[in-house]
Amino acid sequence: MPMHVIYGGTFDPLHHGHLRLALEVSERLGNVPVNLVPCHIPPHRGETGATAAQRLRLLELAIAGEPHLNIDDRELRREGASYTADTLRQLRNELGEDAPLVMVVGTDAFASFDRWREWQQIPGLAHIVVVRRPGTVLTPKSEPAKLLENRAAKSIEALGRQASGLTFELDPPWLDISATGVRERISSGRSARYLVPDTVLAEIKKMGLYGACPVKNF
Ligand code: ATP
Repeated sequence: MPMHVIYGGTFDPLHHGHLRLALEVSERLGNVPVNLVPCHIPPHRGETGATAAQRLRLLELAIAGEPHLNIDDRELRREGASYTADTLRQLRNELGEDAPLVMVVGTDAFASFDRWREWQQIPGLAHIVVVRRPGTVLTPKSEPAKLLENRAAKSIEALGRQASGLTFELDPPWLDISATGVRERISSGRSARYLVPDTVLAEIKKMGLYGACPVKNF
């Protein structure tokens, strides 16, 4: 049964930390495609972020020619905010009851997993792969830490043998890059080169995103 893997994020903008993580996950799971799922950004996140269409355009440029990465824009096509549980439920309906479904999440995002809507339903819908991120650790004995421990798969291969319910912690090589750092560099006229793909940076400049000034050097 083919495995379906999703990796959600705001990707505002996407950077090499996201791309390396997605490829590492793909390889560790047996070269399966990883579907990047850009999420809806609530209006209160500020005005410097890119629009949904612009974030999608940057994602398309970044993954061009990479056979193991896909984009799933379902959350952008829905009205308003999307909850991960809803997205997983929709995917489960499409894939059927038996297909292994995997959700990938960084430690910083997983640390507040118990505040996600319907978080207790999520292990019944998908496996969760938690990827270590520089500078973030789970609070010992917190609900997310307990979930990670109690449902831990013995090996990553075990995820392919059942549809959902397992967790696995992955510790790939770390890239200490954040979208916040990328936006700050761009808005202050500093270089963000080598943090994001050149094609993405050129498009950011062309569209004047994140306060980028087209006459400034990157
Ligand atoms: P921001 O700085 O705007 O909060 P971000 O860089 O954290 O953005 P997101 O789109 O919020 O990017 O991240 C999506 C997912 O990718 C999250 O699960 C996050 O933990 C993970 N992630 C982002 N950057 C890295 C990185 N450098 N290494 C490992 N995981 C990462």
